[in-house]
Amino acid sequence: MLFTIHSLAVIAATFILPRLASAAPALVRNDGACRALPGDADWPQEEEWETLNRTVGGRLIRGVPLAETSCYSTNVSATSEACVTVQREWASLAPFIADPVNIMAPYQQNNTCSPFLAANANATCTLGNMATYAINVSDAASAAAGVKFAHTHNLRLVVKNTGHDHLGRASGRGALALWTHHLKDKTLVDYRSSLYTGPALRLGAGVQVRELSEFAGANGLRAVGGSCPTVGAAGGFTQGSGHGPLSSAYGLGADNTLEFDVVTMDGQHRTVSPDQDADLYWALSGGGAGNWAVVLSVTVRAHRDGPVAGARFSFSREHVTPQVYWNAVEAWMKHVATLNAIPGFRSMARVTRSGFSLDMATLPDASVADMQAALAPFHNTLARLNISLGENETVQHPSYLAHFDAYGTNSAETRNMTIGSRLIPRDLVQDAEKLPPITEALRSIVDESTAGDPLLVVMSNNVSHIYNDNAVNPAWRSSLFLINMVLMSSEQAPWPKLQADLAEMNSWQDRLRLVTPGGGSYGSEATFDNQYWKSEYYGSVYDRLLQIKQQYDPDFVLWNQPAVGSDLYRLRDDGRLCTA
Ligand SMILES: Cc1cc2nc3c(=O)[nH]c(=O)nc-3n(C[C@H](O)[C@H](O)[C@H](O)COP(=O)(O)OP(=O)(O)OC[C@H]3O[C@@H](n4cnc5c(N)ncnc54)[C@H](O)[C@@H]3O)c2cc1C
Repeated sequence: MLFTIHSLAVIAATFILPRLASAAPALVRNDGACRALPGDADWPQEEEWETLNRTVGGRLIRGVPLAETSCYSTNVSATSEACVTVQREWASLAPFIADPVNIMAPYQQNNTCSPFLAANANATCTLGNMATYAINVSDAASAAAGVKFAHTHNLRLVVKNTGHDHLGRASGRGALALWTHHLKDKTLVDYRSSLYTGPALRLGAGVQVRELSEFAGANGLRAVGGSCPTVGAAGGFTQGSGHGPLSSAYGLGADNTLEFDVVTMDGQHRTVSPDQDADLYWALSGGGAGNWAVVLSVTVRAHRDGPVAGARFSFSREHVTPQVYWNAVEAWMKHVATLNAIPGFRSMARVTRSGFSLDMATLPDASVADMQAALAPFHNTLARLNISLGENETVQHPSYLAHFDAYGTNSAETRNMTIGSRLIPRDLVQDAEKLPPITEALRSIVDESTAGDPLLVVMSNNVSHIYNDNAVNPAWRSSLFLINMVLMSSEQAPWPKLQADLAEMNSWQDRLRLVTPGGGSYGSEATFDNQYWKSEYYGSVYDRLLQIKQQYDPDFVLWNQPAVGSDLYRLRDDGRLCTA
């Protein structure tokens, strides 16, 4: 059924004369200070779009909101069978991944055209902040045609892969999107360079994390990907840094890059590496998503596969006092500092109002006994606190893929999530005076929020010892763990609720900032409007990144928020992107 909807969406979306182009009288003539929007005098003429469509072999697609046909057109309603089907498939995220312009974050698309709100008299269905057209990129030539068209016609250009990005970096009002989802080639490479000699994987830009793990596993290898199976491996994940179950063993996604095959904003097709366009390679390896070039493929290190020990356990808060519960959470943070000494150990735990669960512990090339020994001191602490474990499992899987499939989740109960984050410095957790204020800040966020039921995800990524010269925010190297804060709202949430959630998340980030001086944030899992974004998402690499941006994309054809240099432009209230 999903396939049917996707097919219909694509058929409906395939090049149609641009109705938006003629929807309004031409009023605005941009002088280059603003990007053109549909309806402007300098928005491309119908024939120009048709020419572009012919140039890219008929691969130009008009953006259509996912629920428009099924929930908002004539003779349908929120209770029509087609609309109910769209509602059912919404949370799986699959419709967004398979669409050229629709993105997952409702805030970033102005909460428009929700299938869940279609019954409301004042519900609207517009493209909102999503791109007006997309090119279904098949090769360097089709990407270059899009870059040149955007440049020539003063359009905003965005790259869209899976649409996971919660900062809205894969979308833009009036933009031309380059959709990389179908670049699915995967090749095993015997790689030789000044940087690295050994097995490597060349991954098309559309390859997703589970596809990467499956391909690596089929070749007796493993490679760094995220915990979520459907995030794009070569897109926002790698460009933004990219943490996952193998990060403590092999570094972040960005630490594993060897070269990128790209189209730059001058329309050139290049292979960039530490030996060729080294600055651009450096920026693409962790310097932020969607801001440097159109990536067609990335080549990453691969590592010999073998058994992986895994564990999960949980305890409920039901029978313990708040004090004891937070003592236990604090004890876990301290224990992570101990686990940090075990090479390759990585954990992902969640803390909520109802309990604690270690959802996934990963120890590559280790046994069940190794894993049990690593966790035993913490279990003893729980016993001393009179806390009994609910679920408690330790296993060894024969391969990384088996481990990933046993523990990896979509990690999205709803797409309507607001996410913030903080990288917590190692030295603060190890300081008896500095840790309690951190625990207290977490307690106040979880126990006192009136915005909903907060979820904290505490992920240890020991990436201090793995340093490739790249643009990863240096705060990663000195952090003991990343805390993601998640606020979930219902799909029916109205716009004021989404605004309130975002404000609440920024206030949580503020609270953690106060007690974690020297920390940073993971810019791919944080708020787009954090006023400290430069120092917290990029740190000391920001200035060099800005020089590289000005060298490779001086006209800011690619622009997203909060990318390096994005404050040189600003989005006006009507969505028009103009110089600041
Ligand atoms: C449910 C969920 C789970 C997640 N789990 C993890 C995790 O385990 N680890 C982790 O590190 N992060 C995780 N993230 C965050 C994720 O890494 C970011 O949202 C990331 O930006 C997604 O990248 P994408 O390419 O899949 O998505 P998109 O939204 O399509 O793109 C994101 C950004 O990357 C750019 N981009 C994509 N493809 C290209 C390309 N070919 N060339 C140039 N730019 C490109 C886009 O322009 C945009 O700026 C998760 C997010 C969600 C929603």
